[in-house]
Amino acid sequence: MSDLAHELARELLSEKCPCGRRKQSRKTFCSTCYHSLPTTIKYALYLRIGEGYEEAYASAAKHLDCVKKLTEPQQPTLFPREGNHP
Ligand SMILES: [Zn+2]
Repeated sequence: MSDLAHELARELLSEKCPCGRRKQSRKTFCSTCYHSLPTTIKYALYLRIGEGYEEAYASAAKHLDCVKKLTEPQQPTLFPREGNHP
């Protein structure tokens, strides 16, 4: 199993959607995210890992902003406060 497949399997079993909402274990996304996907991708997400699921997930990620954010490095948004200077 590839690292990606491993990661996807772990995510599939978790109860947290990349958007932060709760989802059911063994479902890829929460119902809100899932229903925002095109029908073809919804069906493709029923494929098994190694049999097309990775591609389905990648397609879904393009439609869901929350998934993109998960894969991008997080930028620190805090600026040093002026009071910190000696
Ligand atoms: Zn979601």
